[in-house]
Amino acid sequence: MTSNSKTQNKSFFRPEIDAMKGYVPGEQPQKRPKGFIKLNTNENPYPSSRLVKKLLSSIAFDRLRLYPDPVGNELRKTIASLHRLKPENVILGNGSDDILAIAVRSFVGQNESIACLEPDYSLYPVLSQIQGAKCIKIPLGKGFSLPLNLIKKAARAKIFMISRPNAPTGTTFPINAIKNLCSNFHGIVLIDEAYADFAKDNCIGFIKKFPNVIISRTLSKSYSLAGVRIGYALAQKKLINGMMKVKDSYNVNFLTQKIASAALQDQEYLRKITEKIRKTRGYLIDSLRKKGFEVCDSEANFVFASPPDGNAGKLYKYLKKNGILIRYFPGPATGKYVRITVGTDRETKRLLELL
Ligand SMILES: *Cc1c(COP(=O)(O)O)cnc(C)c1O
Repeated sequence: MTSNSKTQNKSFFRPEIDAMKGYVPGEQPQKRPKGFIKLNTNENPYPSSRLVKKLLSSIAFDRLRLYPDPVGNELRKTIASLHRLKPENVILGNGSDDILAIAVRSFVGQNESIACLEPDYSLYPVLSQIQGAKCIKIPLGKGFSLPLNLIKKAARAKIFMISRPNAPTGTTFPINAIKNLCSNFHGIVLIDEAYADFAKDNCIGFIKKFPNVIISRTLSKSYSLAGVRIGYALAQKKLINGMMKVKDSYNVNFLTQKIASAALQDQEYLRKITEKIRKTRGYLIDSLRKKGFEVCDSEANFVFASPPDGNAGKLYKYLKKNGILIRYFPGPATGKYVRITVGTDRETKRLLELL
C-alpha cells in the first residue's frame, strides 16, 4: 500500500461540514423491528390503503428499466386536485425532508440566515449548516407558544421554517398569527405541515394569497408510507418553477410516484385511520394526565409529555428495557419531556401499564 503524506491527516471537507454534527434520526432497529413497540418516530401503526397493495401487485416489471417522469406530472395532478390547486402549484420530494433541503438550497446563500423556532424540527438548523448559512433560533414562549416580536427577531432571515402542528410538542399555533407572519415577514415562510392531517385546520388557503408561502406535506405519517419516501410542497407557480431548477433531476422514483398516487386516491381510508389515531391520542393524553404527567395539547400523531419526576431520560431507558421505544431529546428546552407516538389501542395500553 502506498500512502500520500500530504493528505494523510488533512480533512477534505468544507469547514462547515467538519464543524457540524449532522442530523440524528430516531432509532430504526432493522434486525428485530417486531421486538419493539415502536413509538419513537411518529410512524402510523396502521397499514397504508389497500389500493397501495393492489397497485404493487400490478406493477409491470419491465417498467423499472426506464427513468421516471422527472417532475411526476400524474401525481402532481392528483395532489393539486386534492387541495383545489393547479399542478403548477406542486413540486414533489423524496420525502418532505427533500423538499426542505430544496428550499434551503433555493433561497439561502452562504452566510445568509434561516430562522426557526426552538424547539422545532431539528433538521432545519442542520440544513442551514450544510448550506454554510446561519440559523436564527427563536425560543418559544411560555407553554410553547409563539414568542412576542417574532417577525422582528427573524427580520434578517431569508426563510422562516416553522412546523405546524409543532414537532416535537404537537401543539398548534393560532392560524391568524401565522397569517400575520406570512403578510409581514419579508422572506419566504415555509410552513411544514407534516402532521396537518391529524389537526383541526391547515394553512393551504394561504397559497393563493401569499407569493412568499410554501407549505410542505408528507405521506410518511398520515398515509402510512414512511418507507416509500414521498413528500411535496405547495406554492405559487413562480416559487415552484424556481425550486424545480434546484431539485435532483429524478428525485422521486417510479415506484414511489405510483404508490403515492394510489394512496392519495383513498381519502376515505385516510379519514378513517386519522380519526382512529385522534381518538387514541385523546385517551393517551387523559391517561397520562391522570398519572401526573404534564402533557401538551396535541394536534399531531404524538404527544409531548413530562413525567411527574421530570426525569425523561430515565423514563426513556426504562421503556426501552421493556420493549417500547419512545423519543427523548436532551437539552434545555426539551430535556424534561419525552415524545410518544400514538400507536394502536393495544400498544397504548401496554405503554400505560408500564408507567
Ligand atoms: C417527519 C417529519 C418530516 C419528514 O417527513 P419525510 O417526508 O418522511 O421526510 C418533516 N417535518 C417534520 C416536522 C416531521 O416531523
